[in-house]
Amino acid sequence: MKVFVESCDWVVTMDDAGTEISGGSILIDNGVITWIGTGLPPAEGIDERIDGRGTVATPGLINTHHHLYQTLTRTRAQGKGLFGWLQELYPIWAGVDDEWLYAASRVGLAELALSGCATTTDHHYIFPRGDAANGTALLAAEINAARKIGLRFHPCRGSMDLGASGGGLPPDSIVQDADTILAQTEEAVRRFHDPAPGAMVRIAVAPCSPFSASQRLMHESAALARRLGIRLHTHIAETLDEDAYCRQHFGKNPMELLDDLGWLGPDVWLAHCVHLTDAGIHAIARGATGVAWCPTSNLRLGSGIAPVRRLLDAGARVGLGVDGSASNDGGHMLAEARMGMLVARTGGAGAMSAREALRVATQGGAACLGRDDIGSLEIGKRGDVALFGVDGLDFAGTDADPVAALVFCAPQRVRHLIVDGHLVVRDARLTGADEDAIAVEGRRVTSRIARQLDGGPRSVVR
Ligand SMILES: [Zn+2]
Repeated sequence: MKVFVESCDWVVTMDDAGTEISGGSILIDNGVITWIGTGLPPAEGIDERIDGRGTVATPGLINTHHHLYQTLTRTRAQGKGLFGWLQELYPIWAGVDDEWLYAASRVGLAELALSGCATTTDHHYIFPRGDAANGTALLAAEINAARKIGLRFHPCRGSMDLGASGGGLPPDSIVQDADTILAQTEEAVRRFHDPAPGAMVRIAVAPCSPFSASQRLMHESAALARRLGIRLHTHIAETLDEDAYCRQHFGKNPMELLDDLGWLGPDVWLAHCVHLTDAGIHAIARGATGVAWCPTSNLRLGSGIAPVRRLLDAGARVGLGVDGSASNDGGHMLAEARMGMLVARTGGAGAMSAREALRVATQGGAACLGRDDIGSLEIGKRGDVALFGVDGLDFAGTDADPVAALVFCAPQRVRHLIVDGHLVVRDARLTGADEDAIAVEGRRVTSRIARQLDGGPRSVVR
């Protein structure tokens, strides 16, 4: 299958030299980029031609942190910080089942695809106790959703074993014991993980946070991941409450805790990293640990602003994450890049350029996920390409720099999205699913959740 992306206004390769090609075209053969240039490719038998005129082509965007199940619990706990927000939402999330996770994943993945995202993670850590035998069925539901929509997917098998009775934050009803978690995680890796180049599904091991996962679980999760050769992910240094919790319970700050647990290294990426000391920043950079930067969520929950400029200057790997939709409350990667660029500029207008925000959302994400086969448009890389229209109303007047306009101007739907050489979005509509049907199903399951909670739709708490 040969796909030819023809005559884009600009091809933004995101290679190390920052090459941008005016009037550029891209040939994808059997899922792999085999030619980039201007004019006609040295190939015959092209199966599909994509008209790139009026578009800017970028590498498919990469989302490094999400909780897809939360797409059905948006706009709740609006005035609360992380701990209060979690405590209001945990009892609702205790009802997560396969139907919920499938419907929520379809909503969240469709939103991401339509924003130009080719690869996403998910961090699923809610496994209600009644579902103890169902540890891989929930992951299977979201992997099935990703496969049907056509995205490259890195689901993280999350976990919590520290309930309220043990001094943790979540209620006991949604935590599992560490042995069950480790066994189900290994089973998920055996069933779903593909280590091969170009893989469409890879699993990571992901205990949730210092206030919901025991030291033993953190330690043994790291040992399991390293034995199986897969990556590690967790939340860390998100709020001042968490910082105080760690100092009180462990006598150290969150980064010191992770360091002691052997959780810094090139096989780890960490969500948030908002509250870091200078030593913490250097420990992250020194260990080549990745950071999933979630600017909207950090602002929505009042957590703070991550020191991304300082992390980048120290040489850290930084990717972009929309985070769960209960704290965003959306999943648009260009909107996230825009938010990131703007909030970084609280440190001055030179603190982050539009191109640097795009690099974080592409190459930075690939580095977090340990993928050298995506994140840039180069010969030999997988055929993941996002084509954004720059010829519409919102981009009128941007001729000075249509590439920067992707981040500066109002966030757009992607016009076409190609993942592994397959067209996932054509003319701003999904090819493998009906977005209207996804929305209807999402609303149906959301009403079912509300009925189970309190007998009917709630009035909004303001
Ligand atoms: Zn999160």
